[in-house]
Amino acid sequence: MIKKIKEIVIASHNEGKVREIRSLLKPIGFKIYSAKKFCINEPIENGKTFKENSLIKSKNAAKKSGIPSIADDSGLCILSLGDQPGIYSARWAGKDKNFNTAISKIEKKMYKNNLLNKSSRKAFFCCALSIYFPDNTYRVFQGKKYGHVQFPPLGKNGFGYDPIFVPIGYKKTFGEMDFNYKERISHRAIAFRKMKKYLENYKV
Ligand code: IMP
Repeated sequence: MIKKIKEIVIASHNEGKVREIRSLLKPIGFKIYSAKKFCINEPIENGKTFKENSLIKSKNAAKKSGIPSIADDSGLCILSLGDQPGIYSARWAGKDKNFNTAISKIEKKMYKNNLLNKSSRKAFFCCALSIYFPDNTYRVFQGKKYGHVQFPPLGKNGFGYDPIFVPIGYKKTFGEMDFNYKERISHRAIAFRKMKKYLENYKV
């Protein structure tokens, strides 16, 4: 028998991500809760991949809330830095989650290693979106957006590394793009489109 979903909890404390996921989920019509509503803690993300970390978060939230949970693990991978900061994207911003610090760490590292030419600035954003059900079944959907990083950071929209990422085919950073536009073309949107097809079967 196909399970039916009425409500979903978003397993994230990142306001930028919650806003994007909420807005992507809205048209499907589920009741959406934030992790705060169920006092869900942030579990230790000790996975080795985006997929593993995403599942750690969605499993934790599904267990604590008793309803299906969606989690996102994502990050920026710079090819010439061996895909850093990658799964450590949030951690590069430190305890106070300061992305100006994280961005200047990246710029310094690339400058020191002579990697500021365009071909060394190739990068992609990766998103692993998982859904975990209280009966321990789950699915994971991945999305990648390719482009390059650029300095100095530009634009005040979005969050995290948005001001330094220019997607292929564009001249603007994600930070300069309108939120609704970025949301349609992002790595998260790509992963989400895959998840949406799957979720259609679970609508009440
Ligand atoms: P985590 O998935 O919560 O471990 O955090 C991933 C980090 O990657 C976030 O804190 C952001 O800084 C960064 N990140 C993920 N997706 C995006 C995005 O769409 N724009 C900018 N930064 C992002």
